Amino acid sequence: MAISTTSHFNSFNFSLTLFLTLLLSSTTQAHQQELNTPITRFQNYLRINTAHPTPDYTSAVSYLKAQAQAIGLHHQTLQFVPGKPLLLLSWPGSDPSLPSVLLNSHLDSVPAEPDKWLHHPFSGHRTADGKIFARGAQDDKCIAMQYLEAIRNLKGREFTPTRSVHVSLVPDEEIGGFDGHARFVESKEFDELNVGFALDEGQASPGDEFRVFYADRFPWGLKIKATGQPGHGARMYDNSAMENLMKSVEIVSRFRESEFDVVEAGKAANSEVVSVNPVYVKAGVTSENGFVMNVQPSEAEAGFDLRLTPTTDPDELRRRIAAEWAPTARNMSYEIIEKGPIRDLLGRPLMTVTNDSNPWWLVFKQAITSAGEKLSKPEILASTTDARFIRRKGIPVLGFSPMKNTPILLHDHNEHLQETVYLKGIEVYESLISSLSSFTKASH
Ligand SMILES: [Zn+2]
Repeated sequence: MAISTTSHFNSFNFSLTLFLTLLLSSTTQAHQQELNTPITRFQNYLRINTAHPTPDYTSAVSYLKAQAQAIGLHHQTLQFVPGKPLLLLSWPGSDPSLPSVLLNSHLDSVPAEPDKWLHHPFSGHRTADGKIFARGAQDDKCIAMQYLEAIRNLKGREFTPTRSVHVSLVPDEEIGGFDGHARFVESKEFDELNVGFALDEGQASPGDEFRVFYADRFPWGLKIKATGQPGHGARMYDNSAMENLMKSVEIVSRFRESEFDVVEAGKAANSEVVSVNPVYVKAGVTSENGFVMNVQPSEAEAGFDLRLTPTTDPDELRRRIAAEWAPTARNMSYEIIEKGPIRDLLGRPLMTVTNDSNPWWLVFKQAITSAGEKLSKPEILASTTDARFIRRKGIPVLGFSPMKNTPILLHDHNEHLQETVYLKGIEVYESLISSLSSFTKASH
């Protein structure tokens, strides 16, 4: 009985092992197939931690290069600053004499605080209902992979572009782009591309229409500093540093209100006015017990984050700052930290025309319609992207990320993208890339 039981158990055990082996090998196969879907390719890119301050550009570039090789794209790695590679992919057109189409995406992302997330920001976790969580899922690793997937599909259908199509994958956008796109646009490699039109990142849209951006706002960091006679806290006298700084803060606040009133009255979008927000105030005499309460300090400083619209006259604003916000008559000085160009090489505002006079706009709009999608009214982006460097060369650029019915989670905790939205985005780019690369009417 014992023997028979053992023998029976052994044969059962054997079939169980066989069954498990078969099951395991079929799951492995399924798993391997799964490793090569658009979604897993996206997840694998998201798992590379390219967050500042130590972005892993090497792994990101080698991953994207391998993708490009699998699709059959030309690739070159440019390095304008050591340790900051830029990957440039090219799909030559049948008429390379025509200006090309450039698709841009940045490799880096802002940092994330893992303990504030539902899923680890570099796990590329996909929930049962198809949400893919990762830092960079919206900003802007999605578009890099969508460009590549769209090209892969177009190539699979034997589509040949007339204009050449290039994809630039650039470092450092999130820290200003100065060692990335700013250097790229000044290079001979960029000139050789003869870019006629470019697409760069946009924003998620909570509604059913895609958003498109024709300009960015321009950040200025403004520090204003007041100096004055120090004195006893009990004494009232004119021109102390604090009094001078507080007068300025009042004047800046009035300007802020006048701009914000326009937004609150519904007459303009947030991105259509000059914003100014105080970000720090630095003053006071300290001791180990904290601030000294009976001394008026001889120096006081405040910092402001200013965002200029593309049509703001920078010289006029500088005059206002010098005359009203930090006048030397009140012992004040100021410093403006400019973050990139605000006019193109011909002195024009950095805006891409979105009306019938721009043939690229008409092709873009038509391609969205052909993909069965809708666009909302073109907007100014409230923040700043690498697009400003390309616009500076006089090249039209639209900011566009095909994310609709999607909460805006760029730079936020729990950044994620629904996989159906991601996959639809690939189709949208197929339509865009095929239309933009086939159209031959515009000379540039
Ligand atoms: Zn971005």
